[in-house]
Amino acid sequence: MGSIGNSDVSSFKLPKIKFTKLFINGEFVDAVSGNTFETIDPRTGEVITRVAEGGKEDIDLAVKAARDAFDKGAWPRMSGFERGRIMMKYADLIDENIEELAALDAIDAGKLFSWGKALDIPQCSQLLRYYAGAADKIHGETLKMSRDLQAYTLREPIGVVGHIIPWNFPSMMFFMKVSPSLAAGCTMIVKPAEQTPLSALFYAHLAKQAGIPDGVINVVTGFGPKAGAALSSHMDVDKISFTGSTDVGRLVMQAAAQSNLKVVSLELGGKSPVIIFDDADVDMAADLALLGIVYNKGEICVAGSRVYVQEGIYDKFVQKVAEKAKAWVVGDPFDPLSQQGPQVDKNQFEKILSYIEHGKREGATLLTGGKACGEKGYYIEPTIFTDAKEDMLIVKDEIFGPVMSLMKFKTIGEAIEKANSSKYGLAAGIVTNNLNTANTVSRSIRAGVIWVNCYFAFDRDCPYGGYKMSGFGRDMGLHALEKYLHTKAVVTPIYNSPWL
Ligand code: NAD
Repeated sequence: MGSIGNSDVSSFKLPKIKFTKLFINGEFVDAVSGNTFETIDPRTGEVITRVAEGGKEDIDLAVKAARDAFDKGAWPRMSGFERGRIMMKYADLIDENIEELAALDAIDAGKLFSWGKALDIPQCSQLLRYYAGAADKIHGETLKMSRDLQAYTLREPIGVVGHIIPWNFPSMMFFMKVSPSLAAGCTMIVKPAEQTPLSALFYAHLAKQAGIPDGVINVVTGFGPKAGAALSSHMDVDKISFTGSTDVGRLVMQAAAQSNLKVVSLELGGKSPVIIFDDADVDMAADLALLGIVYNKGEICVAGSRVYVQEGIYDKFVQKVAEKAKAWVVGDPFDPLSQQGPQVDKNQFEKILSYIEHGKREGATLLTGGKACGEKGYYIEPTIFTDAKEDMLIVKDEIFGPVMSLMKFKTIGEAIEKANSSKYGLAAGIVTNNLNTANTVSRSIRAGVIWVNCYFAFDRDCPYGGYKMSGFGRDMGLHALEKYLHTKAVVTPIYNSPWL
């Protein structure tokens, strides 16, 4: 079974926690109530520190700061080029602090330190630079109208944005939201997940150092039903960009509808299929499928949790994927040998284990894993079920953990039908060497991103988001910039035009 790594991590110097207060109008401040909450290290279950617990009054203050910065401040009014220059500086500051930021996400979210250093944190500065480059290329159009009129369109920042983000990628989520909205000229309030507030507060500090004016980025840590709900129902917020569960996404939409009809975009849950055809290289397919479910301990919205394998290679695939899962190393995120850290918290840990028990009761066969591991903390073995069926809870629900359900199919039509038999539509993987199969299946699956012979192939230039109950709106790429812009048409009459 995925084993607990043994190398010595005690020599690693854990980061000193420097920022634990709310960041409002360029200052770190206590919550108005004076309340704080614990943030927990999932490696041990112990308290790392206490963080200010923002509530409605703090959201009111943060929204006022963002409103003033938008209505009267420099950020929306400066040239895109100048905004981009400051964003580049912000990116440089992230690069100067990579180790500390990766360590914060490792202790707060259980993310692998080595992957944070090599992937997550560098991707944040890259995202900032990508959108910094776009900030002075936001243009409208000139329109020739049918009568003696001409019109042009202006692309204007949408206003004050509330970003509500989850805990699974605390740094990437922050910059997937903040970078395009900064480039567009918006001002904002970020509400990080209560499980992982630490890196967001560090990013607030770096924003100030970079020269982003006070009030443009505000960070209010706290709980969803209080701080998150106050943000999504606020009358002075123009847009909410939400990433999280489908259930909370629905609440955010309701709050927007019942307040000022603010614009909403939702990046929600998933139950993504990976379809492996007979002609695939079995070894490569097993690597992709395993990575698809254990990457970030399965706590990723696009996890490939339903794996459909064509009958000709099914038995061979089962054997390969089981071997690989057993060799997968679960352990302390600071151990360079670890491939999978602990689940984010006790709730998530218990929820995943209860789904595993449910799977057994429903009649699926446990091929590998199925248990917690380690003496402390929230570690779970990579878990694979065979004999899974579409109507089982483990196949229908988003588990958000390292739990794969394996199923067999005969024909391409059957694979498409099964892959689409989910309320979600976030991502899908296809493994085949047949171009026609890849093209047919890619176009038939109702999902926002399709990976052919690869998985988790994210890039800042490639939009992603959901179909169906996985939400609407796109993060990443220039599509994300659109979310933070309004289009205004300006129409003028034309007299005595020499031509129509
Ligand atoms: P969650 O929905 O519980 O919480 C997300 C955020 O919403 C948190 O900041 C939370 O405090 C806040 N929140 C909670 N209740 C709220 C309320 N009533 N009003 C306003 N805000 C509220 O989700 P989670 O457990 O943090 O994250 C896991 C979920 O996120 C999974 O479903 C996963 O698929 C999804 N997710 C989706 C994407 C994507 O891009 N589609 C990416 C990552 C995670």
